[in-house]
Amino acid sequence: MVESDISIRELQHYLYCPHRWGLIHIDCSWEENYFVTKADLSHQRVHNPDRSYISRGKRVLTGVTVFDDSLGLYGVTDCIELTKDPEGAVLQGIPGKYKLTIVEYKPTSSKDKPFNHEDLVQVFAQKVCVDSIFQCSCDGTIYYADTKKRVMLPLNENYSSYLQELKEILQVIQHNRQNGIIPAIRADQKCNGCSFKELCMPKTAKHTDFRKMLKDI
Ligand code: SF4
Repeated sequence: MVESDISIRELQHYLYCPHRWGLIHIDCSWEENYFVTKADLSHQRVHNPDRSYISRGKRVLTGVTVFDDSLGLYGVTDCIELTKDPEGAVLQGIPGKYKLTIVEYKPTSSKDKPFNHEDLVQVFAQKVCVDSIFQCSCDGTIYYADTKKRVMLPLNENYSSYLQELKEILQVIQHNRQNGIIPAIRADQKCNGCSFKELCMPKTAKHTDFRKMLKDI
């Protein structure tokens, strides 16, 4: 067990924008907008642990708490779909064996590619936790609400490289936490739809290090 835990939600904040992560988790700031509220409402629906149901002959578990002690990572999955499989995992209280598939809900798809890499890393983090708890090798998909399409992610094909990437990101988060670092704004950061635009002022923030200014006073 590692000393400090990181939630998959915190990881998601970092993947979206490291600077925004710093504003939330180092400066303890928060801003809402239409997109944040919409995403919260859709996740409230799928994170209800009492809403396990049968869909197209498959059992679906919602709001499952998962964790991996070796990475110090934990979170809640939107949905885990169970498909009967004689080689699959055994789940407490559910007869039979099952192949597990994570289904992560996202409001918006990528315009020019099948999925965003940041979304993949987030689902990969869930996979590591699900595999650890259920002793299996689950699949991962994203359901994009705007296109109403489900995209299968190549999590098992590139497992080692994604695991390495995930570990490196978690290490950076730990380092930033311990040292109170708010990462600089990425050169290619996309800010459309970010609820922090008014607070962050990305066009001027690049040129102004307020923390340094305060230290120099
Ligand atoms: S406005 Fe842009 S740079 Fe600032 S927190 Fe949001 S996404 Fe990051």
